[in-house]
Amino acid sequence: MPTLETEVLVVGGGSTGAGVARDSAMRGFATILVERGDLATGTTGRFHGLLHSGGRYAVKDPVAAKECVDENPIVRRIAADCVEDTGGVFVSTPWDDPAFGDQFVKGCRETGIPVEEVPVAEVLRKEPRLEPGITRAFAVPDANVDPWKLVSANTRSARAYGATILPYHRVLGLELDGDRVVGARVEDEVKAEEVEIRAELVINAAGAWAGQIAHFAGCVVNVAPGKGIMIAMNHRLVNTVINRCKPPSDGDIIVPIRTVSVIGTTDVHVADPDELEITPAEIDEMLDEGEKLVPGFRQARALRVWAGTRPLYTPEDVADTRDVSRTHVVLDHATRDGVEGLLTITGGKATTFRLMAEQAVDAACEKLGVERECRTADEALPGSEDERYYWLGSRARAQEPVPNAEEIICECELITRTHLTEAISRGGRPNGLDDIRRRVRLGMGPCQGGFCIYRTTGILHQLEELDHEAANSALLEFLQERWKGVQPILHGDQLRQARLDDWIFQGLLGVGHLPG
Ligand SMILES: Cc1cc2nc3c(=O)[nH]c(=O)nc-3n(C[C@H](O)[C@H](O)[C@H](O)COP(=O)(O)OP(=O)(O)OC[C@H]3O[C@@H](n4cnc5c(N)ncnc54)[C@H](O)[C@@H]3O)c2cc1C
Repeated sequence: MPTLETEVLVVGGGSTGAGVARDSAMRGFATILVERGDLATGTTGRFHGLLHSGGRYAVKDPVAAKECVDENPIVRRIAADCVEDTGGVFVSTPWDDPAFGDQFVKGCRETGIPVEEVPVAEVLRKEPRLEPGITRAFAVPDANVDPWKLVSANTRSARAYGATILPYHRVLGLELDGDRVVGARVEDEVKAEEVEIRAELVINAAGAWAGQIAHFAGCVVNVAPGKGIMIAMNHRLVNTVINRCKPPSDGDIIVPIRTVSVIGTTDVHVADPDELEITPAEIDEMLDEGEKLVPGFRQARALRVWAGTRPLYTPEDVADTRDVSRTHVVLDHATRDGVEGLLTITGGKATTFRLMAEQAVDAACEKLGVERECRTADEALPGSEDERYYWLGSRARAQEPVPNAEEIICECELITRTHLTEAISRGGRPNGLDDIRRRVRLGMGPCQGGFCIYRTTGILHQLEELDHEAANSALLEFLQERWKGVQPILHGDQLRQARLDDWIFQGLLGVGHLPG
């Protein structure tokens, strides 16, 4: 069995694990990160996309609110290229108690969240699709954040500091020497072989799966997975993050992100974090709640629905995951369970990933008996050095002054051939078309890959010298994966689009009968 040696082994390639790997490598530790799938395919790649101001938690969960408001400006600074500064507004609709606005402002002031009551007419002028019966509105510094860019920037930085990042490496078990964790047994899922990784310290950053990893060392970590669904609408129904001004509940936020807007979410306690089934009732509820913010929401074109599971740490079993704090914990299993060599970092938000990583690596320094300062709040991530926010028009601007000078591969997301081929070569050999999708947001617009994906398959075939069977199966796999999120919500114009895609792929290409 191949064996690797390291000081720190990080388990989990979501925002937390990527942040921990970066911080650990920046502080000079030999670091390896393992992730069972592609990077950011756990909760981080399935979240709502909101860089929280903290407003959502200002009344009910002040600790989480304070963490968000402290980290929000840091993430804006170090990861500017991943953030779009949309701003956010909390609105009292006719279904909400306007008096809650006073509690909201009080909560914001007490936790340090910049908040300002703004005239409703001004908000409606800026966001004309909003419910006209809104009675109060409060502006806060919400924004959106692209999870794949964020994780990719962190792992690129970690690599530059010497870390090894191993996607498609699933932890099968932790290696113990007496009551000390000394590494992990890992399955390399691409080569289908087992690898042993010996480490001085294992940091379990497996999010909602953290309980499963800790269990390998005989420790009990109670992570209650809270499933939430989200629906992407085909364009920007709003340009500001819109929150209902009421205690957190279902379907009360619309986040405009890149070319779409996303409504969410729900919070249902599930037994297993991989249990992501979506029911028609949940979809209906989202669409009904959407109507309360944007009248006519049900008639807009819904592209896709998906679910993710929150890593909610709770010392006791709970019936309702909404009652669990959104803050995070660092657990030292030596003091807690008598097992040396293992830390768990779980809970929290994508917004607070950097703080979570800092606290986990502080604990690692203490355990390894060294004092090394954290610099992740000061050093910008790759691509964000100029501290300029992502701007929605940037891909269109890159086409100017001569539009159509370059071949466009994905019309919905304005991805040119050069942009695509650079992303393919920069990120290393892609593991399927879904991997390319995450790198550049390919196929995420209204046609859901209908026009761009056969072009991309051809380009990948040529660039990566895939044989025709591998190219065919990559195409089929992508279509099947997309279908999972499209099928539960098909109606109206999107159903017409799906029929057209079906004619292209089944009728013209006969994709199901291609060799491979
Ligand atoms: C519906 C929903 C909406 C949300 N919206 C927001 C929001 O708008 N803003 C915000 O800030 N936060 C939001 N959150 C919270 C946020 O998404 C999470 O807190 C955060 O992404 C968790 O990151 P993580 O790295 O800890 O976990 P993950 O991203 O889940 O990473 C853990 C990784 O561990 C891997 N793993 C599991 N088992 C193994 C194994 N055996 N071997 C190797 N790897 C393994 C998984 O594949 C996974 O990739 C939302 C969460 C949900 C569910």
